[in-house]
Amino acid sequence: MDQISAKIKKEWEYDAGICLNSIDSGTHYGGSVNPPIVMSSFFSFDSHESFSQALRNECDNVVYSRGNNPTVAALEKKLAQLERGEKARCFASGMGAITAALFAILNAGDHVIAVNNIYDRTIEYLEHAASHQISLTYLRENFTIDAIREAIRSNTKLIYFESPASTLFTQVDITAITALAREHGILTMMDNTWATPLFQKPLLMGVDIVAHSLTKYVSGHSDFLAGALVCSAEMMRKIFSTGYMLQGAVLSPFVAYLALRGLRTLPVRLKEHEKNALQIAQFLHEHSKVRCVHHPALNNAEEAFFGKQLTGYAGVFSFVLDTKKCLYVKGFIDRLKYFHRGLSWGGFESMVIAPYLCKQNKQCPCDQSASPNKHLVRVSIGLEPLDMLIQDLSQALEFVEKD
Ligand SMILES: *Cc1c(COP(=O)(O)O)cnc(C)c1O
Repeated sequence: MDQISAKIKKEWEYDAGICLNSIDSGTHYGGSVNPPIVMSSFFSFDSHESFSQALRNECDNVVYSRGNNPTVAALEKKLAQLERGEKARCFASGMGAITAALFAILNAGDHVIAVNNIYDRTIEYLEHAASHQISLTYLRENFTIDAIREAIRSNTKLIYFESPASTLFTQVDITAITALAREHGILTMMDNTWATPLFQKPLLMGVDIVAHSLTKYVSGHSDFLAGALVCSAEMMRKIFSTGYMLQGAVLSPFVAYLALRGLRTLPVRLKEHEKNALQIAQFLHEHSKVRCVHHPALNNAEEAFFGKQLTGYAGVFSFVLDTKKCLYVKGFIDRLKYFHRGLSWGGFESMVIAPYLCKQNKQCPCDQSASPNKHLVRVSIGLEPLDMLIQDLSQALEFVEKD
């Protein structure tokens, strides 16, 4: 085994230990292997003085569940360990987490550079921020390091990016971006939802704030929404006192319990998603009715990041059908028996969506040459038996015609 894969394996085992470990195992709560779900909106104190003292430093004390809650804190501790960060904070959704950080960092007059194909709601938020005098440069396709350097202004406060981005699965050079940002005193924030902390650790590559939607792989069971931020204790203090406490999109203790339960099986699930998705991506890549597959492992430029920043592949990727007509794209999607047609991903069940087509009105112009990705199909490969999924895709592909 070469050095890189030995290192990846060691980290994987260490992380799996964090995911699986019981909280304070055996020593508390009568030996329960699971943490209690502390359903309490506030916490009472022995004296006026002890209460006042706790309140003066609410960031570090359990006073009110909009600040700290023991069950949520147990999840935060694990997420911070997995990302190798000092502090994690959980939120009611991924968007709750992302917007809390942006709210805390950005002021009127600031400029943000968004790099790579960003989650559409995040871009909508950053565009909306224009009404608060926060300007945006969105480098959606041309995101070379030179393009980013050219976009920097004297008031650039933040470079925000995703890698791999969750539509075309393109990656950015994380260490090159963080080095450039440091040189100019600019903060960096990265959405690491696709890779999860198990397959990528942006803080170790110099990123200041990492964001997650726990709704996807950490949940794994499509039964809740949640989000998280991980960063230095100093940065988190700032986010806590503004975006966290003031916006109040905090996580319920019950959902934190479900997320802790999701973490227990995350390592096994991810390996299965990775294996099945790689095989299906390869199957599609070789299929005559598929024009191209966007999976980081099937693109030489993207593969170069393997081991350097990404250490595994999640189960979501996209492909373009070789057809001029969107009726074949819709028909392909409708003929799938085991794929759910719907919005999320990262769960146990396979999912399919045509992200660009479904945003268009009924009358879509059918010339694909204008926009090669218009007929893009995105799939999230679930935990069903592989052969079953391949057969399903095969029969639906039979329907697709070129013209
Ligand atoms: C889903 C998603 C989000 C938003 O998370 P919610 O939990 O749905 O609010 C943010 N970023 C990425 C990459 C996502 O896939």
